Amino acid sequence: MRTRSRFRMSASRPWTLPALVAAAVATALLTTVPHGGPDRTGRAGPAGDVAAAAEPQGKARPDAHDVVLAVHGGAGSALHRDRTTPEQEKAYRDGLADAVRAGQKVLDRGGDSVSAVEAAVRSLEDNPLFNAGKGAVFTEDAGHELDASIMRGSDLKAGAVAGVRSVRNPISAARLVMEKSRHVMLAGEGADDFAARNGLPTVTQDYYWTQRRWDSLMDAKRAAAGSASRSDNGSGPAKASLADEQAKGTVGAVARDQKRNLAAATSTGGMTNKMSGRIGDSPIIGAGTYAKNGTVAASATGDGEIFIRGAATATISNLMEFGGKDVATAAYEVLIERLPKLGGSGGVIALDGKGTFDAPHSSEGLLHAYLTKDGKIVTKIFADETPPNS
Ligand code: ASP
Repeated sequence: MRTRSRFRMSASRPWTLPALVAAAVATALLTTVPHGGPDRTGRAGPAGDVAAAAEPQGKARPDAHDVVLAVHGGAGSALHRDRTTPEQEKAYRDGLADAVRAGQKVLDRGGDSVSAVEAAVRSLEDNPLFNAGKGAVFTEDAGHELDASIMRGSDLKAGAVAGVRSVRNPISAARLVMEKSRHVMLAGEGADDFAARNGLPTVTQDYYWTQRRWDSLMDAKRAAAGSASRSDNGSGPAKASLADEQAKGTVGAVARDQKRNLAAATSTGGMTNKMSGRIGDSPIIGAGTYAKNGTVAASATGDGEIFIRGAATATISNLMEFGGKDVATAAYEVLIERLPKLGGSGGVIALDGKGTFDAPHSSEGLLHAYLTKDGKIVTKIFADETPPNS
């Protein structure tokens, strides 16, 4: 069943979001926020990001070797040990490890890297902790519009969906576009229809709903109203907690199969309070996702507009192919040296055909996990496990 109405809800939640949003916005307009908030996208403003990343501190060193699969759960403010309960820590580590295991199962039975990254990303889409599928963030009019893409390194085939509103697993829709259409990207209703016609499960918008993301939308609207009525640009607690909540959760995976074919996939709800119709980097081949045998499989997360303008993942591949750089040097150059100059921050997971893996990021953290060929799974979720600019 396809959802035509933007705000169609299930019988179990009959209230309408627009009414709530109107009320919340009215409340937000009346609320004073003591310090500067993020910009309209909900992220910290570019000036702060540039300042934070102006002087790269680290070196382009690979994080690991002999990696066969890796996933990420978004860039942004990292989780901090002192503000994370043991239950939350377990939930994040389990979520990432479960996704790795889903991909591992595919690889272990001789499956290809495309199926492995699809399985890993589906697991993260089904997990409400992450900003993709169930748990996706809200647009400014309280809807959910999801983006995803997938790419196969052996022949550069790729598929993407943008602004979908009813497919349960956008990454599988992206794969369908790659394999069952003559196009690379489908958007909006056409993409939802195509997925439904080809048998992918569909959901109503309330499937994606989580309290946490709703609270983030309300925070973003309050902050936008607060910053509109203020001339200062402070950086106090309101800004910090917004960055914490909103700048996390896009998911992605990269893999190398037994035939050494690379694949990459990325899926997201985008950015909290984004304009309806806004498309980020995640479904854009060469920005959020890229895979090419001989160079790299890469999935990015961060300020989407900047990753599009900087052609982030394609540039990593080009630096390797035409500049002779290794994966860590190329990824470092793009993430730490180039993108911050455009005013954005974020991270990438990057895997080359030999299994060399790196996850550089200019954001405070990058939640990720990887699997080595001997079956070891490593998860990294805290800021001190993933120092920025390295
Ligand atoms: N890159 C995503 C977007 O711009 C958001 C993110 O990675 O957090 O839609």
